[in-house]
Amino acid sequence: MTRTDTDVLILGAGASGLFCAMTAAARGRRVTLVDHARATGRKVRIAGGGKCNFTNLEMHARHYVGGNPHFPKSALARFTPWDMVSLLSEHAIAWEEREHGQLFCLRSADDVADLLEARCRAADCRFLLGQRVEGVEHDGEAFVVTVAPAQAAGGDADGGAYASANSGTHAGTEGASPKTIRLRAAALVVATGSAAWPQIGATDIGHRIARQFGHAVAPSRPVLVPLVMDPQWPLHGLAGIALPARVTTGGTSFTLPLLFTHRGISGPAALQASCYWQPGEPVEIDFLPGANLDDLLRAPEHGKLLVRTLLGRLFPDRLAERLVPPDLAGRKIAELSRSARAALHGAVHAHAAVPTGTEGMRKAEAATGGVRVDQISSRSMESALRPGLFLTGEVLDVTGQLGGYNLHWAWASGKAAGEVA
Ligand SMILES: Cc1cc2nc3c(=O)[nH]c(=O)nc-3n(C[C@H](O)[C@H](O)[C@H](O)COP(=O)(O)OP(=O)(O)OC[C@H]3O[C@@H](n4cnc5c(N)ncnc54)[C@H](O)[C@@H]3O)c2cc1C
Repeated sequence: MTRTDTDVLILGAGASGLFCAMTAAARGRRVTLVDHARATGRKVRIAGGGKCNFTNLEMHARHYVGGNPHFPKSALARFTPWDMVSLLSEHAIAWEEREHGQLFCLRSADDVADLLEARCRAADCRFLLGQRVEGVEHDGEAFVVTVAPAQAAGGDADGGAYASANSGTHAGTEGASPKTIRLRAAALVVATGSAAWPQIGATDIGHRIARQFGHAVAPSRPVLVPLVMDPQWPLHGLAGIALPARVTTGGTSFTLPLLFTHRGISGPAALQASCYWQPGEPVEIDFLPGANLDDLLRAPEHGKLLVRTLLGRLFPDRLAERLVPPDLAGRKIAELSRSARAALHGAVHAHAAVPTGTEGMRKAEAATGGVRVDQISSRSMESALRPGLFLTGEVLDVTGQLGGYNLHWAWASGKAAGEVA
């Protein structure tokens, strides 16, 4: 077994781990990053459909969900979207603004991950890639982390060895393989992200480490994920249809493109809504946001039209057919009773359905829940329970909406920890 010392040991060479490493190394700290993946920043590299929605010009704590809505404010105030833009500009990485203030790379998401890795390497950070965490402990003076080569190509997705280490049989102390390394550091940064998108090696190891040091963890739930509807849902079978809609759930609404899928709904409106949806609760869809069907029904020029004709002008044909109550489809608009108008209004502006679930972690861009922040410093991300322990990025109970908020949180919280660790 090899034993090496370092000042700052970072678990996870993803978005927040790289940012933290770069920041700490710039202060002259000796930094080591451990990751079971063989490449750095794997989620960064697939983010934004390969173009990486790396930040958003409208950056406020209200774009985040979590147990304490004020928690992200300090780090966000000290690392703004323009700070990220400046960093990219220093490295001549071209970007563009898209709708709703979202900033994307023009060429490739790899540019961002490569830039962060290059900055770390230039500052002599040490990378231990393809290494899984076998055990974490504190010997009274420093953190001691045992790592060993990961077996799976993309990383050790089950983290089983860590689980057994927690139960007292620390690999590396007895019967250790010659390739086992024991790392000692005064500062330990847990930047292992959430369990969303496990197919590239995402795990909940960070939650287990946090629990080991006494932190409470809010249950994780997949978010930024398509919602699944019951097969009996009257709008089933419309896969491929996309239109602007207002989706409301948990008291929050989003007016954005909505996409029907084979199993339910997706598109930005549904993905955003998934952050606020609770199992068993309904979602309400307004298919005509920003307009009032009553006004269209009352317009004199529409009086002689059949209901199905007017709705056919407003919506894709297959959707129009499903939205109109069958007994009203062939009626003339001028002849509709007050209750018939109300039924039509409800069908178009307030379609309610209770999703049966989501497409799960494999299709979720993020997970809510995570390490509760009441025992974490919002300034430095340091644990109040174990000085020297830092938690950054998505491992914390801070989840951003769609639009570059999760990566920006990873940068900002990683930087906050790197300034102190
Ligand atoms: C498909 C997809 C697209 C996305 N697109 C965007 C986007 O465009 N904009 C945006 O803002 N957000 C996006 N996100 C979310 C964003 O990528 C994450 O919120 C962000 O990467 C979290 O940063 P992090 O540092 O906390 O975790 P990560 O970047 O996930 O890094 C965690 C690191 O820890 C390592 N790790 C995990 N478990 C272990 C273990 N047991 N042992 C050792 N290492 C381990 C992982 O390999 C990984 O390198 C997307 C997510 C997905 C899945």
